[in-house]
Amino acid sequence: MTQTPLNPGDSPLVREALSSVVSRETSATQAVTQAGDAPGGAESTWPRPPKCRVIAVANQKGGVGKTTTSVNIAAALSMNGQRVLVVDLDPQGNASTALATEHRGDVPDVYQVLVDDLPMADIVKQVPDMPGLYCAPATIDLAGAEIELVSLVAREARLRRALTAYEAELDYIIIDCPPSLGLLTVNALVAAEEVMIPIQCEYYALEGLGQLLRNVDLIKAHLNPTLRLSTIVLTMYDGRTRLASQVAEEVRAHFGDTVLNTVIPRSVRLSEAPSYGQSVMTYDPGSSGAMAYMDAAREIAHRAATV
Ligand code: ADP
Ligand code: MG
Repeated sequence: MTQTPLNPGDSPLVREALSSVVSRETSATQAVTQAGDAPGGAESTWPRPPKCRVIAVANQKGGVGKTTTSVNIAAALSMNGQRVLVVDLDPQGNASTALATEHRGDVPDVYQVLVDDLPMADIVKQVPDMPGLYCAPATIDLAGAEIELVSLVAREARLRRALTAYEAELDYIIIDCPPSLGLLTVNALVAAEEVMIPIQCEYYALEGLGQLLRNVDLIKAHLNPTLRLSTIVLTMYDGRTRLASQVAEEVRAHFGDTVLNTVIPRSVRLSEAPSYGQSVMTYDPGSSGAMAYMDAAREIAHRAATV
């Protein structure tokens, strides 16, 4: 019987994933204000970034918390005075569902922006009861975009072009990527300046990370020189397991300050909220998941002040 090594660092797989990234540790490390210093409880208006921060939330693994992170960070930022657009780039449309934004039938969506050159302004919707929060929905049509984009001019830069032409006053654009490294994710990485990677605190969490980071490097070298890995967020942390804390430790050892201090715990409320068309920030603001995402968003907002 094969035994799962207790220490993820013992695994050749993890070593491979991490060895390719260890060298970028220093450059990825950036000055961070101690966002955790802010007193809990009452929220004030957070500092606005000097210019709109475009953040691609990417990881080609499914079910690691990309959508949950995109939606709840966006909601938390908007509740603290930021103007935030969530771009749903996953044909499953989970972010659109969680933000109560229609994405069935023939509603205009991101597919039409990418493939038919529809202006962004024609698809963006204000999220109900969430001032300052907007959603660009994805319908199932987007599933065809991976193939249809191949033959289009500037196929990697369609999203960037659409966002550049979109003149809304925004502080954050958060792009929820699909679980693949295809042309949709490439479009997100070309449009963004920052990559945020959610890492699930479990054994296989680091599998594929090397490949994702190599893609980020390739895109940086050839298509988008301003792209950088700005944020890693540890998700679905179960404090009762030794493995979760070991994965967290490994990730922190290799990525340093890129990893948010805040860790997102496993919380049933986080998985319930989308079926009510809400982020957990309004569904159950006192839950551990909501409080963690509020802290995570505060860290991100305060990092903006030092970028
Ligand atoms: P991805 O977008 O990477 O595929 P999701 O954000 O959709 O991942 O998360 C996958 C599933 O796990 C969803 O059902 C979601 O509700 C649930 N989930 C995400 N984060 C947590 C968490 N911290 N605690 C409990 N469930 C979570
Ligand atoms: Mg998702």
